[in-house]
Amino acid sequence: MALSTSFAIVQQQMRRAAGLVWSTSPALMIGLFLATLVAGLLPALAAWLGQRIVDAVVAAMRLHAEQGQAPLWPVLKFVLAEAGVLAALAGAQRLLSVQQSLLRVRLGQTVNLLILEKAQTLSLAQFEDADFYDKLVRARREASIRPLALVTKSLTLLQNLISLVSFAVLLVHFSPWALLLLVVGALPVFLAEARFSGDAFRLFSRRAPETRRQTYLETLLSHEAYIKEVKLFGLAPLLLERYRTTFTKLYAEDRRLTLRRDGWGFVFGLLGTLAFYAAYAWVVLDTVRGRLSLGQMTLYLTLFRQGQAAVSASLTALGGLYEDSLYLSNLYDYLGQPTSAEGGSLTLGSQPGDGLRFEGVGFTYSGATAPTLKDISFHLAPGQSLALVGANGSGKTTLIKLLTRLHSPTRGRILLDGSDLQEWQPAALHRRIGVIFQDFIRYQLTAGENLGVGDTAAFHDETRWRKAAEQGLADEVIAGLREGYATQLGRWFLGGQELSGGQWQKIALSRAYMREDADILVLDEPTAALDAAAEAVIFERFRAQAQQRMTLLISHRFSSVRNADQILVLEDGEIRERGDHEELLASGGRYAQLFDLQARGYR
Ligand code: ADP
Repeated sequence: MALSTSFAIVQQQMRRAAGLVWSTSPALMIGLFLATLVAGLLPALAAWLGQRIVDAVVAAMRLHAEQGQAPLWPVLKFVLAEAGVLAALAGAQRLLSVQQSLLRVRLGQTVNLLILEKAQTLSLAQFEDADFYDKLVRARREASIRPLALVTKSLTLLQNLISLVSFAVLLVHFSPWALLLLVVGALPVFLAEARFSGDAFRLFSRRAPETRRQTYLETLLSHEAYIKEVKLFGLAPLLLERYRTTFTKLYAEDRRLTLRRDGWGFVFGLLGTLAFYAAYAWVVLDTVRGRLSLGQMTLYLTLFRQGQAAVSASLTALGGLYEDSLYLSNLYDYLGQPTSAEGGSLTLGSQPGDGLRFEGVGFTYSGATAPTLKDISFHLAPGQSLALVGANGSGKTTLIKLLTRLHSPTRGRILLDGSDLQEWQPAALHRRIGVIFQDFIRYQLTAGENLGVGDTAAFHDETRWRKAAEQGLADEVIAGLREGYATQLGRWFLGGQELSGGQWQKIALSRAYMREDADILVLDEPTAALDAAAEAVIFERFRAQAQQRMTLLISHRFSSVRNADQILVLEDGEIRERGDHEELLASGGRYAQLFDLQARGYR
């Protein structure tokens, strides 16, 4: 990559990093800047004092030889001054590292919050996109270190540049050419560094998917939720083998890059050393010829030595800066992702009481070749219930995702109370929908909070918990827990109590009942893990409850489905049959077939 592009990237990201630090803590930023200034200036002062010491000693020795005595103060005052300067330098450096430690923690937090807050504004479709997900993982992985690294390296650079300028001011009295020699000597190291840090970044980006796979294997092998199957299927050796193979491959690439990077770094570093010793010899020769005093020689040698160190430190910092900038640009790539469509501002539909209408709705997942839903139309009026029936993969859950606006239709439109879902204010829409998904969450919280999450306004409201628990049948489950509603659920945290699948389902169902204002209730296989008696009770209540509510049910059990006012049979994303139970049976189609199949199982 052209050097100018690299500099443009570095410059842009440095500005962003500075902005981040400033927004995190202006005080720390100013403190760091001042300490850097001091730490950059003092070495030149110390070197200059060193020269004065040597020259003062030489003068005092001459005086002593001529007169048998010499005053000590002219020498000692410089020694004292240098001691003071070095103490101040140590102080400034300590101040730098303290402030950097503090900044590390705060900046990590700032960036993590940025990432997590951003995640909340993204659409489900973005999360389901592997490419995007890699970006998120990369951003999170590097979140707490890269911005800080960029800042500290910029400061190192600044500090060394200040030192170099002050050295140059002193050195220019000797020879401007010597200055040039040193800079040119250090240049190859820098070019190599810039090149390899670009390689390192590209390597890192290219294998984000593999890194993610490794993380996934780690999860499979160590997470409670998976260990059951891993053990019983004896998967561990297979997974471990895969883990090892991937590691070996990644490690080989890492090693190659590290060896090349350091090999070339060494070779080019030698050039810098060569330049340094050429300048060294020059100074020594000039001193022998009497062109320089001993003090000047000391000064110049110190300047060369420290100057060379400063040049290579700045160049390394610059190279690292480039790498950090690339990582940071990755973070900003992620933060710059378009947020999901904001939606409109409606809180009421144009025809209140009209209910829910799907009009010719079609949907294709991004990246998919064929549509998952085709030409879906139906009307669900308040007080009515609708059941979706269909084989796995026929598109039932996708339909729910459209209804809850987790995805938007690619064709047709969905109306609630006469207004397109897209025009509804998201919060107003969500208030009206209570949903329990097939893969509902088992929150590792207390039993009460597990219900409370259903309505954040009533998160701590025990009266509401109780009411919802009663409706969703979780009350008996919770009554059997050691500490009732205060019982920690799940096994992740100390003292947690694990529930059975059916018990969890009752909790999740009750959670949906927390949404008192919700008049659209969506149940995606809500009773799959429930026993038949529980299911019967639930549907009884459900119907009693559903007077003004619209209910949308997905179930494979015909005992639940048969009571719905309207049944849609989905096949390959299309509505194949519709009607109520009696009508569908009478028509003798697919529904009747499936019903017969299931009924036969019970006979
Ligand atoms: P059902 O709920 O009826 O079992 P789904 O609606 O979950 O079916 O899935 C319908 C089809 O859509 C399936 O063929 C599935 O492969 C596809 N599908 C589901 N989710 C996604 C997704 N996030 N990305 C791409 N395709 C998906």
